[in-house]
Amino acid sequence: MSKKSEFIPVRLSHLLRHCSVGAIVRGPDYLMTVKDTREWTDRNGNPAGEPIRYVDGVRSALGIEQELREPPVATEKDNGQVEGVCVPALRFPSWMYCPNPKCGLLHYKPWRGLSANEKPRCQKCENKPKLEQVPWVLIHAEGHMADVPWHWLAHQNTNTPTQKQCRADWHEPYLSLKDKGATGRQLQCEHCKATSVFNDDIKIPYTAWRQPWIKEDAEVDKDDFASVLEINDARVHMPQTRSALVIPPESRIRKGTVVDHLYSSSQKLQMIKNAKLPLPRKSVLRTIASDLRCSVQEIEDALKEIDKGYPLYGQNITQVLTQNGWVRKG
Ligand SMILES: [Zn+2]
Ligand SMILES: [Zn+2]
Repeated sequence: MSKKSEFIPVRLSHLLRHCSVGAIVRGPDYLMTVKDTREWTDRNGNPAGEPIRYVDGVRSALGIEQELREPPVATEKDNGQVEGVCVPALRFPSWMYCPNPKCGLLHYKPWRGLSANEKPRCQKCENKPKLEQVPWVLIHAEGHMADVPWHWLAHQNTNTPTQKQCRADWHEPYLSLKDKGATGRQLQCEHCKATSVFNDDIKIPYTAWRQPWIKEDAEVDKDDFASVLEINDARVHMPQTRSALVIPPESRIRKGTVVDHLYSSSQKLQMIKNAKLPLPRKSVLRTIASDLRCSVQEIEDALKEIDKGYPLYGQNITQVLTQNGWVRKG
């Protein structure tokens, strides 16, 4: 894998729409897909974005237990170094093709082993043209996405025993995709000469991973089909966004107090929760008390407040989730 990373500046508003999780985004050199928030972490694997506090109403309206966080922010210095944590993305689709119409060889992750500035090229063609990523992906209605299974497609109508036994090769290019004009695109295996016609919008069984970056099999109905779609097709990515208007219960929030600090630090609360025996617990409380410049008793009192339900104290604030997704608290 090439060590060089590409960076794309993204606005927050774009991160919620056409650059959101699972979107395919064009970088300076490659198309990429945005990984999900579980991977928006720092080097130690901790969530990198700043937590958003006092949004319990929004969380319950969304039906989630997890903390809400802002996306991480990174800055690119003049020397090309990056400070901070980036929103991670993955080169995708993984297949590239030779643009020479007489060749059309498909290459799987041809960037593997290349140095920083090297571009993948077709070695079979005399002028070694630069490869281009294939513009198609496999999309399942449940939201799963995968590379088009080119080997499977080429061999779906096999006749001879040689063709039936032909196995995928992930290193040497052996499949070609050529535009035959009126008869459509022809997909061929150079090893066994199995041939099939390739058109957009074909439907095939989905047997792939849940997402390009989630290497777990997707649980889909065996009779269900996935569609091969062009990446700019609107059906490839449909972000779901909800807007929430948060009016925090200001009167109940005691800004700057021990209870506020403790409530706002999931790390500290977790430390206390993990220290179950009296001695370790005492030591954790002392560390936190010294950190917050207060007494251990004040920490105990603050914990009681949080246990009682600070800052909402069980008062279920009316939530109206209207059709356009506004959450109202009041
Ligand atoms: Zn070529
Ligand atoms: Zn074959």
